[in-house]
Amino acid sequence: MTYFIKEIYYTLQGEGAHSGRAAVICRFAGCNLWSGYEDDRSKAICNFCDTNFVDNIRRFAKNEVDILADTIATLWPWNTIGGSPYVICTGGEPLLQLDKPLCDALHANGFEIGVETNGTILINSKIDIDWLCVSPKANTTLLLISGNELKLIYPQKNAMPELFVDLSFTHFFLQPMDGPDQAINIQSTTTYCLKHPKWKLSLQLHKIVGIS
Ligand code: SF4
Repeated sequence: MTYFIKEIYYTLQGEGAHSGRAAVICRFAGCNLWSGYEDDRSKAICNFCDTNFVDNIRRFAKNEVDILADTIATLWPWNTIGGSPYVICTGGEPLLQLDKPLCDALHANGFEIGVETNGTILINSKIDIDWLCVSPKANTTLLLISGNELKLIYPQKNAMPELFVDLSFTHFFLQPMDGPDQAINIQSTTTYCLKHPKWKLSLQLHKIVGIS
């Protein structure tokens, strides 16, 4: 068995409740809703992905889990005062790969663990994570229906906010879909949040300030 990792880097979280918070991003390769190849995009279940999670993959064997955790930990600025070490496991779909040994190794390194998932894969009950962000996708079966944060890309035909507003999350974010209609989507998302105050606007801060 192997962990397939697209990239690991230190940045500011750009989206949702932890927006602006320093974090190490661990981006896993692979997703169950799209192969990641442009030729497959039109027939993918999720076809608006803005993330490359297929090229230049690093591989860590399962018995190299401590090396992977150390690689993540090395990026945190330990010599500063304050702040709480935070790693965001994202993808791709991180729940295809995230397991107990890696969570244990990250916790042992002092990290809080956040997970950003499309919500279609149940979390192994042995896995201990600290923050769950679910981002539902249209035409999928949502299995993770509770957590810290629901972040819905808007608009999505067949995945409108009304379908999710009664789920058991602490925060409800609506994030304008990127792409050629971004300006229109920002406007419509803003309008929706103004009319439905349970939803908060999430902008992709990292794109606005020009960091990855
Ligand atoms: S579910 Fe997420 S990672 Fe997978 S294709 Fe869609 S946006 Fe990309």
